[in-house]
Amino acid sequence: MSAKKFYITTAIPSTSSRPHIGNYYDHVCADAIARYKRMQGYDVDFCTGTDEHGEKIESYAKKAGVAPKAYVDGLADVIRKGCDVLRISYDRFIRTTDDYHETAVQKIFTKLYNQGDIYLGTYEGYYCTPCEEHLTQTQLDDGKCPLCGREVHILKEDGYFLRLSKYQEWIENLFAENPDFLLPKSRMNEMMNSIIKSGVLDICISRTSVKWGIPVREAPDHVIWIWIDALSNYITALGYNTEENSDDYRKYWPADLHVIGKDIARFHAIYWPIMLHALGEPIPKQILAHPWVLFGESKMSKTTGNVIYAEDLAQEIGVDAVRYYLLATTPYAQDGSITQKQVYELYNADLANTLGNLVNRTLAMCNKYFGGVKPAPGSIEAVDADLFAVRDETVKLFNAKMDAYLLQEAMSAVRELAKRANKYIDETTPWAIAKDETLKQTRLTTVINHLLSVIDTLADLYTPAMPETAEKIKAQLGADKVTEKPEPLFARLTV
Ligand SMILES: [Zn+2]
Repeated sequence: MSAKKFYITTAIPSTSSRPHIGNYYDHVCADAIARYKRMQGYDVDFCTGTDEHGEKIESYAKKAGVAPKAYVDGLADVIRKGCDVLRISYDRFIRTTDDYHETAVQKIFTKLYNQGDIYLGTYEGYYCTPCEEHLTQTQLDDGKCPLCGREVHILKEDGYFLRLSKYQEWIENLFAENPDFLLPKSRMNEMMNSIIKSGVLDICISRTSVKWGIPVREAPDHVIWIWIDALSNYITALGYNTEENSDDYRKYWPADLHVIGKDIARFHAIYWPIMLHALGEPIPKQILAHPWVLFGESKMSKTTGNVIYAEDLAQEIGVDAVRYYLLATTPYAQDGSITQKQVYELYNADLANTLGNLVNRTLAMCNKYFGGVKPAPGSIEAVDADLFAVRDETVKLFNAKMDAYLLQEAMSAVRELAKRANKYIDETTPWAIAKDETLKQTRLTTVINHLLSVIDTLADLYTPAMPETAEKIKAQLGADKVTEKPEPLFARLTV
């Protein structure tokens, strides 16, 4: 029997500027889920990429004095390298300037236009350039953009509109019938109350004021709004083009999970399903809209200097520690926080003192007392049975949390097991048992056996978050003998 498929995507970051560490939470989160699903035997297809069109990029390129394509080439390269540094195990990397994508988006537009889901009208209202968002008077927050808080400007132009209003009832039903469509549920309620209940409005999906985008074939002075362009990546990456769709598309679509930031939930949970439904295609099964990672308590921003770059931090403390920090500290619904001090403290507590120390102590004892060979267990006492019971419970808990995409809680479950194993060493006092030759053969064997077994489980459970560390632990445990001179997994950092 063939494995069950799992198609997972990240949002595609904009090639407007270098992403900070918070922008990569999306990738790390999706990557941990992808790796977990692969371990569970799924046939995973993991798609990421870059969003490369629009007014913002056009103006940044102009400022930099280069052509837009040259500008996005540079940043697409930076982002792809960032993904590779962070060991994001993507199967596809799509750029929205790729030919096949541009052609497919034009065909999507034509199809929707020909069937009356897109019509030509006049747009008059407000526009936020950084967000590339049309806004109505009522949407403004104190005269400013409700999404980013910046100045908006007045805009009047002919434009093509997507007839979202036609699907009002359909989207209401979708939300009513699929209470887990958008996670966390609080965001689903937010969408329902703030947008759907008040009536979904047709949106303008073309621009004549922008040149850097995919032209409408029917009217080339219009370019297609970046959200239609960007959202389509999830299907064009698989080979969808409205006509002859690829085997990969038929195999992997619909997406099992779109991982996105909370700020773009509306585009993914309302506009995107309507677009797909209008195209006659199935809609994604689930959307996970995660919170932001703040710098301390404020938004990360280059202008204020409140910014950390993932690649730089990885140089300092290792890639796995960066991934672990993001996963272990970012809550499911509330924003997470990162500062250098917080990173160092968590690193020392969880990685150096708990996991690293456990592995190091255990391997040293296995070498010292049993020549590096994992001993068969001797007599079993309550404390040993308890350790294994905790381990088995942790595996179950971990799987349940990962299945529900509660990544922070999954990390905390594994950390508790590592702590329990360290406590087991204190409870059993192997160094004291070792002094008695008989006990060494009946009791110490059990203790070392149990510790090595639990470490092996920890390596499995840490694989989605820290793939390289998990491999290192497995290598140190060895096939027949543990390594003679274990390298510390995490050297302590001076805070
Ligand atoms: Zn804005």
